[in-house]
Amino acid sequence: MTRLCPLCECSTYQDFKVLDHRVIVKCQACEFVYTNSYSSKALKEHYKKRYYSSSTDPRIEQWINDKERTFKGLVISVVKAFAKDITSLLDIGCGTGGFLMSFSKQSPKTQLFALEQSNDAIESLKRRMPSLIFKGAHSNDLKGDDQLYDVITLLQCLEHVENPQSLCDDIYNSLKPNGMLFVTVPNRKSYKVFLEGLEKEDMCYGDETHLQFFTKKHIRQVLQNSGFSKIVCLRDFGRSESRGIMSLIQFVFRLLGISTELRFVAFK
Ligand SMILES: [Zn+2]
Repeated sequence: MTRLCPLCECSTYQDFKVLDHRVIVKCQACEFVYTNSYSSKALKEHYKKRYYSSSTDPRIEQWINDKERTFKGLVISVVKAFAKDITSLLDIGCGTGGFLMSFSKQSPKTQLFALEQSNDAIESLKRRMPSLIFKGAHSNDLKGDDQLYDVITLLQCLEHVENPQSLCDDIYNSLKPNGMLFVTVPNRKSYKVFLEGLEKEDMCYGDETHLQFFTKKHIRQVLQNSGFSKIVCLRDFGRSESRGIMSLIQFVFRLLGISTELRFVAFK
């Protein structure tokens, strides 16, 4: 099976790399790197191994605690970038909800919504945040829904989906006028990929559940295609697990565009 480039729909590509169950190619027109074919069965197995295998998996609690500083930092960035009261926020691919819990602590008046595919994640999060409203599993569930949001967050999610363009299109349609998307993805041009190599590093290519591989240019491309404007790459200092000198190094990497994660905001 051959897929068209998810971003520019070009049908010609060059071989890039075969990693575990994924055949990864590079679009000849726009140079986007994407998974052309993969094993659905292997993908399912990798999700279980890497994330959680039940709603009471102890890794859920640990993940939320380990990432507390990052979630807090993300909340500060979202609030600062929107610069107005946020009355409604939808988190797509909320996982076990570390970000949403942190958000509700810092902005208790915001009505929070979530999209999530994993029943285990939903079950676990429903116990922690009974007031959270689930809108479904996929962005398809947003179609035909009249609800519009001030802010939609898409944290480490776009690299997992089969069609990132249609997800961004759906997000655009679900935002209020002047609404904001906050998106983070692994950076395929990070220092880690460069130093450790495609097979060894595990934040971008090395995660067997990742299907799309973004650079700054390609995030801009996918957002522009959907109609977004005022697309800005965020390079704030800190707002992650790093402390001390590591925060400074991370900040320099962000300025150079070689950080492990890319953070963007875009407006409707
Ligand atoms: Zn392309």
